[in-house]
Amino acid sequence: MALLVQKFGGSSVADAEKITNVARRVAASAPGNQLVVVVSAMGKTTDDLLALARQISAAPDLREMDMLLSTGEQVTIALLAMALQSLGLKARSFTGPQVGMRTDHAHTQARITQIDADRVRRALDGGEIAVVAGFQGLSDADEITTLGRGGSDLTAVALAAALKADVCEIYTDVDGVYTADPNIVPDARKLARVAYDEMLELASLGAKVLQTRSVEFAKKYGVTVHVRSTFRPDPGTLVTKEEHDMEQAVVTGVTHDRSQAKISILRVPDRPGIAARVFGAISAKDIVVDMIVQNISQDGYTDMSFTLPRGDHARAVAELGDVAREIGARGIAHDERVAKVSIVGVGMRSHAATMPGRSPSSATWRGRSVRAASPTTSASPRSPSSGSGCAAIPVSPRRCSPRSRGRGSTSR
Ligand code: ADP
Ligand code: ASP
Ligand code: MG
Repeated sequence: MALLVQKFGGSSVADAEKITNVARRVAASAPGNQLVVVVSAMGKTTDDLLALARQISAAPDLREMDMLLSTGEQVTIALLAMALQSLGLKARSFTGPQVGMRTDHAHTQARITQIDADRVRRALDGGEIAVVAGFQGLSDADEITTLGRGGSDLTAVALAAALKADVCEIYTDVDGVYTADPNIVPDARKLARVAYDEMLELASLGAKVLQTRSVEFAKKYGVTVHVRSTFRPDPGTLVTKEEHDMEQAVVTGVTHDRSQAKISILRVPDRPGIAARVFGAISAKDIVVDMIVQNISQDGYTDMSFTLPRGDHARAVAELGDVAREIGARGIAHDERVAKVSIVGVGMRSHAATMPGRSPSSATWRGRSVRAASPTTSASPRSPSSGSGCAAIPVSPRRCSPRSRGRGSTSR
């Protein structure tokens, strides 16, 4: 008898009809298997709860935010357990705290510290399907916490590791991991398999199909993850350890992140210690910068540019005004509507063909001027056998039209 962890994301459980559809899908896997089903909040519930909190307070207390956000998943587990029971199956719902999901105290971004999965094991041994709320846990001060956006993926992978499940199936609204977001790039190809390191790079650079931390967890504990469609039966993408022939892929995929900004400090005196002064001031505000570009020095002066998350842009500009004056720079230029396009794959580290001229490092990207480029990013040390090249470009006001989802696939 196999033990499967199945996770269904928000769009798969967006309304009562979809929850009933998920129940049928789960029921089809029930014969001969033990099942743990992890679910997200229905549809856009988490976004709606966040918006609601911001109507009440510009800077809501993070403990209260977790109390609020965790309600979304609790609705789905009860409804799915009812739907499974209506199909004649034994099912029981559990919150994150009830399944022993212990975390640290970092409200809204908590990290899992321990899982005591006895309660789930007892349910499985009693012939029940365990329906578990994703995204939530309990700190050792007995406070409810959440695991960061997309955190139900992490709940599923962590439970799969704790229970030594045969596989962790991530059911979603696309039928696998593609070479680019299939809802934006019509001719993106589905990958039959992808190595943990490549998936880590794709996820950390914007491919939201899997939460980055869930991939880190899967790699650490050797959990095989199968990303597949909720609505179609075909096999999806296996995220697994690297195999010999996987090394042949030069480029695994292209990711994008439309929520970046860029700041340049102009005519900075090119002296040792200046970069430390600038980036020290930024990191003291807990702002993480991404691509850093420094021009060649002319007459003892240089321009220094970097990209950062758009949400931190205003704070960084406010901080750097004083720093620029203090170090004798001419001033600051900034653009808060920048997108980052990244090419990911082992070839980005070792193949000349992926470097400037053929990668985003070239001077234009689909007719738009490149504002900054880097051959590898800070994400790479986490995924040592993969690499990436990134380019920052202005955000386009219009988007490509979405293609129909889950169309035919090719493996690389
Ligand atoms: P869920 O609600 O099931 O957790 P998400 O919205 O978090 O689903 O993730 C699925 C989405 O990820 C897809 O709808 C797709 O638009 C997006 N996506 C981005 N990059 C990729 C990629 N490389 N392959 C597949 N999907 C991708
Ligand atoms: N509901 C949470 C979110 O929207 C967790 C998840 O869906 O994985 O981020
Ligand atoms: Mg998700």
